[in-house]
Formats: sequence, C-alpha cells, structure tokens
Amino acid sequence: MTARDLTSLADDVRGGHRAALARAITLIESRRADHQVQARDLLQRLLPATGHAIRVGITGSPGVGKSTTIDALGMYLIGCGHKVAVLAVDPSSARTGGSILGDKTRMARLSAENGAYIRPSPSAGTLGGVAAKTREAMLLCEAAGFDVVLVETVGIGQSETAVCDMTDFFLALMLPGAGDELQGIKKGLVELADMIAVNKADGDNLTRAKAAAAEYNAALHILAPRSEHWFPPVLTYSALTGAGIAELWQKVLAHRTAMIACSEFAGRRRRQQVKWMWSMLEERMRARLRADPAIRTAVKDTETAVADGRITPAIAADTIAKLLDASASKGS
Ligand code: GDP
Repeated sequence: MTARDLTSLADDVRGGHRAALARAITLIESRRADHQVQARDLLQRLLPATGHAIRVGITGSPGVGKSTTIDALGMYLIGCGHKVAVLAVDPSSARTGGSILGDKTRMARLSAENGAYIRPSPSAGTLGGVAAKTREAMLLCEAAGFDVVLVETVGIGQSETAVCDMTDFFLALMLPGAGDELQGIKKGLVELADMIAVNKADGDNLTRAKAAAAEYNAALHILAPRSEHWFPPVLTYSALTGAGIAELWQKVLAHRTAMIACSEFAGRRRRQQVKWMWSMLEERMRARLRADPAIRTAVKDTETAVADGRITPAIAADTIAKLLDASASKGS
C-alpha cells in the first residue's frame, strides 16, 4: 500500500465508510511485517479522532445472554441516536481456531442496522496479541464515528482483565441460577466489575433473579470498592423482554459522570495507555525471540535447563536477554 493509499484509507475511515473500517481492521490484524508498519502509521494518523466513545466491557459465562443483551442494548442505543461497535476478545479462538463469540448471527437485529458494526475476535496469537488488536480495532471504530464500543468476552483466564484494561466500564452478567452466585466472587471477577447485572429476570426466573441480586449485593459490601466514588450497583434485567435495559444504560452514564467529576476517568485511561504500551513492547520482544529459529531453539533449551534445575532462572533470564540483544544487532 502506498503512502497515498494509506492517506485515503485514513480519510475513508474518518468518513465512517464501513468497508474502509473493515479493511483497516484487517490491516491491523495482519501479521505481515510491512502491514504492521502501515497499521502503526494509520493508527497514528487517526489518533486525534479517537478516545471519544463510551467503552464498555461485557463479560459472562456462555449462555448467560451476552449476545441477546448486546442485541437489546445495541438496539436501545441506536434508538437513542448512538452508533455502536461490537468487538470481542475470545482467547479460545486463538487456541482452537474456533470462536465462541465469532458468529455475527448471534445479534440478529443489531447486525442488520446501519448504525452498528460487529466484528468477531481476532484469532491470531496470544491473549496479549488478541487484546492488542482489539484495542486497536476499538480506536479505528472510534475514528469512524462509533460513539459506543461494546467489547465482549467470556470468563476464561485473563481475558476479563484484558477487557477491563481497555474499557471505561466493566459489566459482569450473571444468571439467576443457584450456586452460580458465589462463583463470580471466587474468581475475583466482582473486583473488576463496575456493575453486576443479573439477566433473565423474567417469567418464572424473576424471584430467583432478585434473590441472586441480593446475594451479590451483600457480597459486594464485604469487599472494599475499587473507587471511593463508585459503589458497583447490582441490578436485574431481561435481555429477552428488554425490561431494565434502559436502567442498565443509565448506570453506565452515571458512572461516567461520577468518574469524570472526580478525575478518575482520565486517570484510568492514562494508566491503560501506559499499560498498553508495555504489553505491546513485551509482545514485540517475545515475537523477536520467536522469529529466528536458532534463537527459538536456544530459548527452548534455556527453558528446559531451568525446568530441570540445571541453571537458575536469573541466569536463564540473563541468557535470553543476551539473545534479544543479539537479534537486535542483527536488525531482526
Ligand atoms: P451468550 O452465550 O452469553 O451469548 O448467551 P445467549 O445470548 O446466546 O443466550 C443464551 C440463551 O439464553 C438463549 O437461548 C437466549 O434466548 C436465552 N436468553 C438470553 N437472554 C434471556 C432473557 O433475558 N430471558 C430469558 N428467559 N432467556 C434469555
């Protein structure tokens, strides 16, 4: 792609052209070295147009109703005049090539809307790599004029932390089911959550949903809140009927107002940017260790030597740092 192509791609993304946005995201997801250079250039050009969206992370086990919720919430937001981008961080797609969150038909109404853009999780690389690509896709969506970005993830491993680290508001969805309540607490999830929402509060489930909400609320009161300016609310709603969706969004806005008033909003974004820089740097160093077959073998041998107890981790780290130096002087 020539410099002129890149300029016109940047212009088209800024102009809100969906095909250009899709092409730009494909460029940042590409592993080709020349594409990566172009992607960095593109993002730098678009940077002034980013940062304006309300970024919401949404997590919950499979079956909790994430897609139904995003469909309902997205339609509500479009009704309010917003443009909604939906992205995903799905570590399972990196491991198996199959994605839990990938299927666009999961959000049938939203995917037919002009004001919505749905993109499945990037599937290449480690969780760190997948998260980095999703963050960049989020910036591209913002540059294209999407003013709400919903990033969904499943409660697997560190993916929740990764999504929490790229959003302003982290929403944990729960089921009204028995025994499910304390599971979230154990996983440390509620320590990340800015709100807990118990879905499927309809029909026969209504009483159980309210009971689950009361339990979560009690559990939250035991934990120290993350911010002295925000106590995570617990509410019940139904993605199926839409009852409670507007109230759910009101809480997101209330959180935003409270966080901006006490300057924690800017603080959270600043910390995220810096953390992002370091995680990208780590990714790049790891990639460098993987790129050269000789270095890859040396790293593997060093790892085995540590595992066998033949050398100390400190000496091994030293050896690998020297390999990095060597690869840098080779210009790889
Ligand atoms: P995901 O795996 O978290 O994306 O969950 P889905 O959105 O695919 O929902 C899983 C199942 O729960 C589907 O059969 C939905 O129809 C159902 N479901 C989702 N939201 C609700 C709700 O608010 N009430 C009821 N009764 N069922 C729901």
